[in-house]
Amino acid sequence: MPFANRTDCFPLDWSADFPADSPVSSPSDLLLDPPASSPVDEVFWRREAQRIHWQRPFRQVMALEQGGPHCRWFEGGATNLCYNAVDRHLPLRGGQTALICCDRQGAERRISYAELHREVVAMAWILQRQGVLAGDRVLLCLPVMPPALFAMLACARLGAIHVVVSAQLSAAALAERIDLSQPRLLILEDKINRALLQEGLAPPAVRRIIVGDGGLEAMRYAGGAGDREAGELPGDGELGYRRLRAAYNNEPIPCRWLPAEAPSQLLFTSGTTGTPKGVVRDTGGYAVALCASLPHIFHTGENEVFFTTADIGWVTGHSYLVWAPLLAGFTTLVVTGGGTNTPGRRWWQLIARHSVTRLLTVPGAMRLARMQSETLDPPLTSLRAVYLAGEPLDAKTRQWLEQGAGVPVYDHYWQTESGWPILAGQGGALRPVMDRRVSIVDEQTGRPAATGMLVLHDHLGPGGMQTLWGHDDEFVARYWHHDGEGWRYLTQDRARRDEHGGITIQGRMDDTMNIGGKRLSTAEVEHAALTVPGVAEAAAVGIAHPLLGQMVQLYIVTAPEVPAARHADMRRCLAAVIVARCGRHGRPRSVIFLDSLPKTFSGKIIRRFLRRP
Ligand code: ATP
Ligand code: MG
Repeated sequence: MPFANRTDCFPLDWSADFPADSPVSSPSDLLLDPPASSPVDEVFWRREAQRIHWQRPFRQVMALEQGGPHCRWFEGGATNLCYNAVDRHLPLRGGQTALICCDRQGAERRISYAELHREVVAMAWILQRQGVLAGDRVLLCLPVMPPALFAMLACARLGAIHVVVSAQLSAAALAERIDLSQPRLLILEDKINRALLQEGLAPPAVRRIIVGDGGLEAMRYAGGAGDREAGELPGDGELGYRRLRAAYNNEPIPCRWLPAEAPSQLLFTSGTTGTPKGVVRDTGGYAVALCASLPHIFHTGENEVFFTTADIGWVTGHSYLVWAPLLAGFTTLVVTGGGTNTPGRRWWQLIARHSVTRLLTVPGAMRLARMQSETLDPPLTSLRAVYLAGEPLDAKTRQWLEQGAGVPVYDHYWQTESGWPILAGQGGALRPVMDRRVSIVDEQTGRPAATGMLVLHDHLGPGGMQTLWGHDDEFVARYWHHDGEGWRYLTQDRARRDEHGGITIQGRMDDTMNIGGKRLSTAEVEHAALTVPGVAEAAAVGIAHPLLGQMVQLYIVTAPEVPAARHADMRRCLAAVIVARCGRHGRPRSVIFLDSLPKTFSGKIIRRFLRRP
């Protein structure tokens, strides 16, 4: 029975089996014989599982439920994400910086693992006093800011499920996600709460903890006036975080040991193609997968400083701004108001000042940065690698970054559903990471093909989506297909394999254009357009055409210095370049110049808005 269709999610008296002093597993406990035939690399995952603390060892690496596609990773094991991300680091890393926080006013503060532990326990105490139990949802709608991380960690500490919604969404979009996830408690930034109230969308029966937007200053809990939550009496159902935090009495709140498969998060997809999907993720599999991904996919070593520019409500923010760096005992930058879509000098200065070693961002941000300045200044001597994810990476931006930063630039392909990368690569061609097995199939016949839909074999890996919240039938129907040999996960993305086995992502299946019987992907046209001097951003969509079925319509954002007088020239140049690279059928029917492209909070172009007549 899938978890999300039950409100209690897992037996609540479960942790009674685990008194606080129960023995810790030793690596040898984990080395059981793998089953004879298994769709996973048992030896690999047993070894990787040793990167985290197990309060009770698991019995099996992966168990398919009734033949799949539902599965449970590290079955029988018990662990806790917060314990692994905070408590276990205290003996060796208590004084080490866990978070480097930079607020909108430019104030900066370092938070050590010991301080982080204190804040997380205080937050867990607050949540517990509001009646939050294991399995309850706690919905956070906060920008990237320290209390957001404290709350995510505190939820994990108690076994509650965090639902983080981007603070960039509208009040209506937030209300929709509240309705879908039915949280016990909301934690909101002051101005988001006001928007919810103004539009009459605050759910009357759900308490709201209000976090002031006064920046790091608001983290001094001594009380006193200053911001609304501390000064004024809160309204109906509202509680001020600062006041609750000041009342914390130093009571220790232990980590609750949870079954490996206990849901730890409910996370909505970006909503690029329509209604967002509520992805449910586990505990043990997620912790192991993220810890394994760091050395194997990100090539990390010791003492890394991560700067993930993503919104905290996007999967990239969850996995590599919060969980992975903390699980590994690294330092992570928490930049309030940093904004995926507003790169530039501030980012380079932050990297230089805080000796950032790893930058994870989106291609769109780097395209804008390239337009703002030819060089990366100051020189980024601390940086060891840059990773890009979320949208196709064009060659020009990749080369600019490789030359400017002087470090390897990796393209990572993944989804909210996968939780961590599926494919990764340098220089344009991607390959499956770790033990992921993928193929490309013709969307009509389902047979292997050089170009078609990218599918994953058998499972989504540990930490992959367990189900869709409240929609388990849709989870199976939308994403899975059994081809007689095994389950195939349908990414809904179009990909091409070259003769050396390298894979290029061409865009979403739904966005693929069919022009006079010839298929053309959005990425092919956009990458061609981006090579034209003066083009900062490009979006291609298919529009109806009476003879050809569809034709390309192209939207262009130019670099700031390009005058409108050059648009006619650019149109001609764009048509010539696209015809040369994609063929005659790729010639755009029209080229429209815009100031900016419609984007999701995660920095993705929303092509369905551009397709509207
Ligand atoms: P929704 O599913 O709600 O429409 P979404 O698919 O944009 O939204 P995410 O899970 O944030 O939500 O994005 C995953 C998608 O982003 C992938 O399926 C793919 O289309 C695109 N993507 C991610 N990484 C890359 C990449 N490196 N290259 C090309 N496309 C990518
Ligand atoms: Mg998607």
